[in-house]
Amino acid sequence: MIGIIGSGIAGLSAALRLRNLGYDVTIFEAHQCPGGKLDQISQEGYRFDLGPSLFTMPQYIDELFEIFEENPRAHFNYLKKDSLCNYFWSDGTRFQTPAEKEKFIESFSKTFKENPKKVKQFLEDNELKYQLTAPIFLRSSLHRLKTYLNWMTVKAIMKVYRLDLFKPLYRTLKHYFKNPKSLQFFSRHATYNGSSPYQTPGIMSLIPHLEMHFGTYYPEGGMRSIIESLYQLAMRQGVQFHFNEKVTSIDLKNDKVISLTTSKSTYPFDIVVSNMDVVPTYRKLLKGFNAPEKTLAQERSSSALIFYWGIKKTFKELDLHNIFFSNQYEEEFKCIFEKKTLSEDPTIYVNISSKHTPTDAPEGGENWFVMINAPGNYGQDWEQLIDLSRERILHKLGELLGENIKELIETEFVWDPRGIEAKTDSFLGALYGAASNNRMAAFLRHPNKSPQISNLYFCGGSVHPGGGIPLCVQSGKIASELINEDFPK
Ligand SMILES: Cc1cc2nc3c(=O)[nH]c(=O)nc-3n(C[C@H](O)[C@H](O)[C@H](O)COP(=O)(O)OP(=O)(O)OC[C@H]3O[C@@H](n4cnc5c(N)ncnc54)[C@H](O)[C@@H]3O)c2cc1C
Repeated sequence: MIGIIGSGIAGLSAALRLRNLGYDVTIFEAHQCPGGKLDQISQEGYRFDLGPSLFTMPQYIDELFEIFEENPRAHFNYLKKDSLCNYFWSDGTRFQTPAEKEKFIESFSKTFKENPKKVKQFLEDNELKYQLTAPIFLRSSLHRLKTYLNWMTVKAIMKVYRLDLFKPLYRTLKHYFKNPKSLQFFSRHATYNGSSPYQTPGIMSLIPHLEMHFGTYYPEGGMRSIIESLYQLAMRQGVQFHFNEKVTSIDLKNDKVISLTTSKSTYPFDIVVSNMDVVPTYRKLLKGFNAPEKTLAQERSSSALIFYWGIKKTFKELDLHNIFFSNQYEEEFKCIFEKKTLSEDPTIYVNISSKHTPTDAPEGGENWFVMINAPGNYGQDWEQLIDLSRERILHKLGELLGENIKELIETEFVWDPRGIEAKTDSFLGALYGAASNNRMAAFLRHPNKSPQISNLYFCGGSVHPGGGIPLCVQSGKIASELINEDFPK
């Protein structure tokens, strides 16, 4: 019997993989429904996905159906985007990103006056980085010897000089591009795992490869449909769910888990997987246990401030994903990671799912998810910061879109680092667990198996291989494989 704490995307992935291997699986979820950060809200005729909005690597979700020989298309559908994102700069520059590689090279080089050969070289170098590192970092445990004893690892070590591990992403980009706007464009990908392009290593330029090579997708019915379909699959396959049942302690005997105590009862288990953030797992559920303090002290990723606005107008120049860049980009990251405050001129991300799901907004309207990156929750005066940011965002969007946005807002909901921390118990409200602001970050994440407790495993954004939907799904897979190696069925 396996008990899983939390039904985030990683918890569901682990549950499905383990069920497929023949284990009995029970999930305890503190909330009334599954999904964690992938939740949704509806307000005055507008529906909003609460957390993630960018969907990449859908094949990882499909695999979860395929292992049960179910056709994913019968339960879960998505469309591939022809255009990745619309970008806006304050000087009036606009760029719509073609998904197709050759078109991208042509259009990007023309708009930003870059050498097309350099752009092509950059994309190819990113691909090499991905090919060399994905089998080691994204698909395996870094804490098993066999990961290092294979040809792929030897190959990666031999080409380590191509990985740009030893300089920040921003400096890597300068090797290819001259225009500050090109640098900004490719720096932004550091924020996909909550890091700073001025600190995270150049290897992170493999992130645009995920977007540009594998594509970006929109799940029919919105991001929430990923969770709904996986939950239904888990139910069909016999995973047991206990909602509104918070786990309050992981009970140990001789450094082995014997049971989970919840708000309702105590249940014996042979094996436990925590999908909860690793910091509160130790601090709240393993009180008195000797926690791996060095690992837990890793800098956390950025958090976010999001305004969910019901807008009573449609905007032709906007697509599903839209970015309005800051004029003080470096300062924005200093604010997030050093000053722990919000920038006066933040980069603004606007996601509009009603572009593809018209029922997400009343006719003639759009559901705007307006997000800026934010520091974690260190007890700042959030009410004041939110009020200031709302005005700054309204002003900037108003100028660039030529509209009085405030007058168009019919309904508002706000989610800030405090709320993100409270809802999913993510330490400091981090979106992606630990930040990748140093070159050793990938090795310093908490492993998928406890080093001290022989039958305790971990999955989710705060452990290896990291945050974001694709990596979380992979973490559930890696944890299930480790369990199957240690306790074969
Ligand atoms: C605003 C925002 C935007 C994002 N944008 C993107 C994006 O565009 N693309 C992308 O790929 N990723 C994005 N992410 C990151 C992504 O959402 C996360 O990496 C991922 O969803 C984390 O999943 P998880 O399985 O680790 O856990 P979580 O989603 O954090 O779920 C953990 C679950 O555990 C439950 N739990 C916690 N403690 C207990 C307990 N004691 N007992 C029982 N249950 C418990 C919680 O209630 C929760 O349901 C974003 C996140 C946010 C918040």
